[in-house]
Amino acid sequence: LVALYEGLEMALCTEEEQSEDYLFKVVLIGDSAVGKSNLLARFARDEFYPNSKSTIGVEFQTQKMDINGKEVKAQIWDTAGQERFRRAVTSAYYRGAVGALLVYDISRRQTFDDIGRWLNELHTHSDMNVVTILVGNKSDLKDLREVSTAEGKALAEAQGLFFIETSALDSSNVAAAFQTVVIEIYNILSRKVI
Ligand code: GDP
Ligand code: MG
Repeated sequence: LVALYEGLEMALCTEEEQSEDYLFKVVLIGDSAVGKSNLLARFARDEFYPNSKSTIGVEFQTQKMDINGKEVKAQIWDTAGQERFRRAVTSAYYRGAVGALLVYDISRRQTFDDIGRWLNELHTHSDMNVVTILVGNKSDLKDLREVSTAEGKALAEAQGLFFIETSALDSSNVAAAFQTVVIEIYNILSRKVI
């Protein structure tokens, strides 16, 4: 926990040199086609792409959020398709991240089985205890579900992660997934400041 605080403080100080506002780097990770880019598109622009290709063209989007009346900016990084070829992303992608959304597709068991590997990669490349939420996306695909809500919850509990199920298609819980991470980072920092 101390390491987490120190890491977050470092990250905050770095950003504060450029701006008075809070700016948190949050990364989206998980297997190809689980819906990472569409979660970001839904959250940042309220858009959805039914047949999205691997690359939508943005590396990150800065999203303003209101937390306790304070403006917080989340700089949300999307893999832009690297995971399709390498099944991993570079260490530069993780550098400075204080939050992570670890995404799988509830209609594809393999993407849930791969979560452990993504968690290892995250922990290898981040020098701090990143605030992480496990996200079971595509909750609208009820008839195709291969991973139960209880399984997702159990894995999250075992790994000390937040948990939520989302649908970028019907918007359910998308904002909540991002907000959970950013609010937790904000709370950790405020507690430390006090
Ligand atoms: P990424 O590779 O993880 O960035 O995944 P994309 O965002 O490109 O999505 C891959 C495919 O899944 C696209 O065809 C999307 O339209 C579809 N998709 C993404 N999110 C959802 C969702 O919540 N529900 C459904 N039914 N399809 C989704
Ligand atoms: Mg993508």
